[in-house]
Amino acid sequence: MCRRHWGVDYTGTIELVNREWRMYNGRYFWDRKDPTVQRIRLSRKRNAERTKEAVLGTLLHELVHWRLRTSGRPGGDIDDEFIAECLRVGAPISNGAAAQRAYKTYLAKRAYEERTGRKYDEEVPA
Ligand SMILES: [Zn+2]
Repeated sequence: MCRRHWGVDYTGTIELVNREWRMYNGRYFWDRKDPTVQRIRLSRKRNAERTKEAVLGTLLHELVHWRLRTSGRPGGDIDDEFIAECLRVGAPISNGAAAQRAYKTYLAKRAYEERTGRKYDEEVPA
């Protein structure tokens, strides 16, 4: 997946835990101070309840976190850059309320840009 979307190999680890997750399907851990901490965690039990496509989608979503964080870009679920990269590579957006709100805002900004031909955050000349 990393080769296909970014032309690089994943440099972190992937852990399968046995917890029964309800809140999330996967998690990505990183440490701003220690760049060697790059860890994707998935739950065996959660994976077993989901389709292969859904699990691979989650893995790709976590890899987008990894890719942006390790290249010094905003990589949180609510960041525009993160949402844009998820859409580009075909990864799902987080179901969390804040992430869904950010996604709607992101789409509204892009629609505005398409309508007006201007960048959303461009200064309007006086
Ligand atoms: Zn996420």
